[in-house]
Amino acid sequence: MEIETWDVVVVGGGAAGLSTALMLGRARRRVLVLDGGSPRNRFAAHMHGVLGHDGLDPAELVARGREEVARYGVEVRTAVVEHVADVADAVAVRCADGTEHHARALVVATGLTDELPDVPGLAERWGTSVLHCPYCHGWEVQDRRLGVLVTSPLGLHQAELVRQWSDRVTVFTAAVGGVEPEVERRLRSRGVEVVASSVVEVVGEGDGIAAVRTADGDVPIDAVFTAARLRPHDAFLADLGLARAEGPLGSAIEVDPTGRTSHPRVWAVGNVVTPGANVPMVVGAGAMTGGTVNMALVTEEFDAAAADVAPATFWEERYAGSDRVWSGRPNSTVVDVVAGLEPGRALDLGCGEGADAIWLAGHGWTATGLDISPTAIRRSTAAARAARVPPERIRFVATDLDAWSADERFDLVTASFLHSPVALSRTDILRRAADRVAPGGHLLIVSHAAAPPWSTHQHEHTFLTPDDEVATLDLDPGTWTTVLSETRTRAATTPDGEQTTLDDGVVLLRRR
Ligand SMILES: Cc1cc2nc3c(=O)[nH]c(=O)nc-3n(C[C@H](O)[C@H](O)[C@H](O)COP(=O)(O)OP(=O)(O)OC[C@H]3O[C@@H](n4cnc5c(N)ncnc54)[C@H](O)[C@@H]3O)c2cc1C
Repeated sequence: MEIETWDVVVVGGGAAGLSTALMLGRARRRVLVLDGGSPRNRFAAHMHGVLGHDGLDPAELVARGREEVARYGVEVRTAVVEHVADVADAVAVRCADGTEHHARALVVATGLTDELPDVPGLAERWGTSVLHCPYCHGWEVQDRRLGVLVTSPLGLHQAELVRQWSDRVTVFTAAVGGVEPEVERRLRSRGVEVVASSVVEVVGEGDGIAAVRTADGDVPIDAVFTAARLRPHDAFLADLGLARAEGPLGSAIEVDPTGRTSHPRVWAVGNVVTPGANVPMVVGAGAMTGGTVNMALVTEEFDAAAADVAPATFWEERYAGSDRVWSGRPNSTVVDVVAGLEPGRALDLGCGEGADAIWLAGHGWTATGLDISPTAIRRSTAAARAARVPPERIRFVATDLDAWSADERFDLVTASFLHSPVALSRTDILRRAADRVAPGGHLLIVSHAAAPPWSTHQHEHTFLTPDDEVATLDLDPGTWTTVLSETRTRAATTPDGEQTTLDDGVVLLRRR
């Protein structure tokens, strides 16, 4: 079976899904909308409170939306999505008809089902004379005899709200076991009738209602408001393990204001996550989500392109792009560990602007610093001169560590924070560095235990624990002794000048 691939698959082609797709189509994304064709408001003939479309048939809004997204190449297909799973760098979307699609981003805009109270006569009038929201349909039934079937404590708010549209309101409270006397007093204070006997049926001709039948007789009513139990359409996402949140209307997928879920490739928008939102609200939310999804894809594209840059170009641009990149102070972990070693010849790999090498030279070592960036090396040399380090005690060399080879042996080889957002054969470099350690000498590796919190780069390598670092180097245990393999927390300054702490991985190996 052929699997089609898309930038974005939007599941659900109601107001939220189509609004999202419109933004994405106009952002020149390849978008597929898969829609089951059952929007929540399909029971109503007219839609209200939607600026520019007040009174429009909801089906007409969807038809216009489909026409508009098609102008930008968005495909809309009728299909019901049954399952979503993770695949490499994408999500796999499987439909009930067996078709499958892969997408870099998934937008869930599947809405919800209103599960009505089990009262005969309600369901067949849903959207005509049995109503869910006075903002949508209150105007049309103003001043009529309005009933409110309370099914949960929240329904009591609806009872007060409906009074704004008519002074002939009757509240039926049996489903919540009646109300406290002070609540009843509050409702009656503005003329709202309270009926505690159980509702057995809603009766009338066709779509119209004549009365609400209770165990104690009929109460004449023209329209009924009631809150349904809301069931979001999200079961097909179960295998993704998305975080959920308990809201006032029940449990739903947890999202941030842009619709981002706990999954980096999945967004959710519209009634499936905000059950109380009407059409204009979900249209707005869809526009926001569409823009956010596009930006996430743009970022991913730039990250991938930047990761392809040659390390020499990346690091030279990094150093050339500002007057100074590092603090100019030696790394405190290096200082701490090296203080206990007998000085000799030291080699600092990836020396940056030279602070560690200059410190070494000032503490009895003859230091060599290597870095891939000529700008960094120029700065290191100038800093050593400014610190009056005798030239015979220090030298800096601009070289690609991948290509660097020398026969010279050192009593100490250090590599501090030899991490790179672009390709770096770190393990090979460190293994070759180990070959440069003289008998009795040390290899010191200081690393980030995780990406610094302020880093904006998408690091392509994993940050190893010290023990994993030792295991990955896989040096001959007959030649090497592990002196230190531990994590140390130290004070650090963020690029914004704020004080924070960082965890350093520290590995010190001694050559026998
Ligand atoms: C009776 C009634 C009247 C209303 N009247 C108004 C009104 O006058 N004004 C107003 O602003 N709001 C009104 N609303 C609210 C309005 O319906 C919602 O705000 C709106 O429909 C939410 O849009 P949505 O895109 O989130 O979901 P929906 O419009 O429900 O669209 C979801 C879409 O996803 C599809 N879908 C679901 N599961 C899948 C799946 N697994 N695979 C593929 N597709 C799937 C569905 O078939 C549907 O087409 C009314 C609601 C009701 C119940």
